Amino acid sequence: MNRFFTTDILQNGTARISGDDVKHITKVLRLRAGDEVEICDERGKECEAKIVSIMPSFVILKTGEWKQSNAEPEHKVTLFQCIPKAGKMETIIQKCVELGIMRIIPVQSARCVALPKGDFERRLERYQRVSLEASKQSKRGFVPQIKKPELLETLDLGGFDTVIVAYEGEKEASLKSVLRGREVGGRIAIIVGPEGGFEPSEIDTLSQKGAIPVTLGNRILRTETAGMAILAQVMYEVE
Ligand code: SAH
Repeated sequence: MNRFFTTDILQNGTARISGDDVKHITKVLRLRAGDEVEICDERGKECEAKIVSIMPSFVILKTGEWKQSNAEPEHKVTLFQCIPKAGKMETIIQKCVELGIMRIIPVQSARCVALPKGDFERRLERYQRVSLEASKQSKRGFVPQIKKPELLETLDLGGFDTVIVAYEGEKEASLKSVLRGREVGGRIAIIVGPEGGFEPSEIDTLSQKGAIPVTLGNRILRTETAGMAILAQVMYEVE
């Protein structure tokens, strides 16, 4: 069944779809009143819905019974991604959304090449669209949020049960030993450095806040590969 995201859900058992999806429903899928689709509220709930009427700029649907999406992982993983060179963040967002990330926070660290200039808002809008498209494609019930950039040195890691920082300088603690050696809890954070890696002092600061530095093995992964590799392993281990 075709699936759409909408937050425009009304009290009386109806919902509205607007924007580009209207064209998709009418011109591409050629759906009509009476046809059924699946809708998601972007927050993890979904239901079957019947098209009641089609207007030029929106579609009205009668909603069925809402239920929790079973595509959503129980463990809520946040990726703190040090800002990579232009264009890579889109790939990171797309892949991590497919793999079940809950939110992504771009981070500015000492060796970031592409520091966010002035207006980051437009970039964030684009990133959020990438997240929406990847959520649709992977049939998630939740659209992960891409947050405003934060500074590495002032990251607040207080709300997490386990914080893993992938550190190319770590020689002993493996991801496996961390995931298997303790109760990881439901709120997990992953921190990945930029192309140039981390300064040792940054790792000290993060460790003092409870982050655990881990090695991902003897090969150095690109920054855009590291987050998705860790996420896949975390999901394999905990879900
Ligand atoms: N320029 C650095 C590598 C940076 S790789 C060097 O040559 O040493 C970019 C980021 O990906 C790193 O900061 C780290 O967060 C992660 N990463 C890549 N490979 C890793 C590995 N083998 N172990 C731990 N982290 C790794």
